[in-house]
Amino acid sequence: MKYLIALDAGTTSVRAFVYDLAEKKFVYRAQQEVGQSFPQPGWVEQDADEIYYKAAYVLNDCLRFAGEKEVAGVGFTNQRETTVLWDRETGEPICPAIGWQCRRTSDWCRALDDATKALVRARTGLVPDAYFSASKILWDLEHIPAAKRLLAEGRLCAGTVDSYLIFKFTEGRSFVTDVTNASRTMLYNIHTLDWDEELLARFGIPREILPEVRACDARFGEISLRDRVLPIAGLAGDQQAALIGQGCLEVGEGKITYGTGLFLLFSTGARAIASSNGLLTTIGCRIGGRTMYALEGSAFHAGSGVQWLRDGLGLIPNAAETQTLAESVPDSGGVVFVPAFTGLGAPYWDAEARALFAGITRGTTRAHLVRAVLESIAFEARELVDCIRAEGVNISLVRCDGGASANDFLMQCQADVLGVPVDRPQERESTALGAAMLCALSLGLVDLHSLPEYRFAGQVFMPNFARKDVCEAEYRTYRTAVRRALLRPEE
Ligand code: ADP
Repeated sequence: MKYLIALDAGTTSVRAFVYDLAEKKFVYRAQQEVGQSFPQPGWVEQDADEIYYKAAYVLNDCLRFAGEKEVAGVGFTNQRETTVLWDRETGEPICPAIGWQCRRTSDWCRALDDATKALVRARTGLVPDAYFSASKILWDLEHIPAAKRLLAEGRLCAGTVDSYLIFKFTEGRSFVTDVTNASRTMLYNIHTLDWDEELLARFGIPREILPEVRACDARFGEISLRDRVLPIAGLAGDQQAALIGQGCLEVGEGKITYGTGLFLLFSTGARAIASSNGLLTTIGCRIGGRTMYALEGSAFHAGSGVQWLRDGLGLIPNAAETQTLAESVPDSGGVVFVPAFTGLGAPYWDAEARALFAGITRGTTRAHLVRAVLESIAFEARELVDCIRAEGVNISLVRCDGGASANDFLMQCQADVLGVPVDRPQERESTALGAAMLCALSLGLVDLHSLPEYRFAGQVFMPNFARKDVCEAEYRTYRTAVRRALLRPEE
């Protein structure tokens, strides 16, 4: 009987899981919170050293649990885009890591000329934005004196959280990343599978400071902990790991993660589809020498609307209560909510849009407001799924995960609004399961075709076609409300 360990270095916590391959389930989990700091409005920073120490702590904890049992290896997954610069000789970070949500480089991105924007789009599949790592690296190179000095001395390393952790765990022997993490830097050519020379030259980022890029099922080095030497086998960014954990390998298969925000990732197989709707083209994974591409859409706010009902308005005692309240009324009584707290993403890309409730009457109750908030999540997902469908991808089933996927009302509403079944697995930690699966693939313990056998359907919500017309009408009302939420709806 073999154990595997999955390490998930997330934004707010680092977690490690012990996976029992024979039993096909997690048997132990350890978690440590990690801090974020917000030194200026719109800025987000993290301490890479803290992430490393906490990752070591949770890994140790898992190995303590494993005791004498055989542990075959460790698979990694991580928050994407967050950027770390460190000294190749000491392994120490030279400045705070710039978080993926950090907006400090927005102006730089906006100022890029059209030719560069088009080049970024064509080579990397991304819409140029402060979200991705390239502008974060450039910000550090310009503002951190040690970055310039180490660059001149040939000692500078720049990478995402995975690269930094692996560098530390291997004591500098491995300076590596994987294709999915690389595809979020705005520097990686997703077609040739290499750092893009032209983009590197345009941005003035030397290739030498970037890690070597490997496939998701590659070996990434060895880690020594508690008298054991374990291979670091398997790596993918968190959303991509979730896609693998959900067993989505065929064209049109995909998952929606209902967390603070909403993240959709759908496989497009061997074809990288350039979206005309503002979706991102990204690498889903590279396994067994084959690259799978995906379309990605995200909405900034989903579960955060529920958090706001609880913490901002004090309207509900806890998130789970939204289900009972929403089910206590037959509909939202004409109330619509648009969760544009900090703007709207695809297909609107309006940073100035703001949230609103519309359709309130004297008959409106707390239950109507709550129901409208949950419905807005399903409508956001519908808009993004429609964008993916518009690219010619047929979607006949949706797999779900994330905190808010625990809400049965929301999942049923989602099935009705999309008109396809919504499949919620027993194990909602799809990200960690993806890392465990990549580890098993990398070590040759499972093969790609058997991957879906490791995912167990928990509940499948079937669309209620009797509600089709009502849902369509409600969705149209939602879209009208979205136009009111936009700063410049006429554009
Ligand atoms: P993240 O990984 O983004 O921190 P999680 O996947 O842990 O998010 O999900 C947390 C989010 O899900 C919170 O915004 C919370 O409001 C929401 N949430 C949790 N449980 C429920 C529920 N039963 N119904 C609706 N929303 C929920």
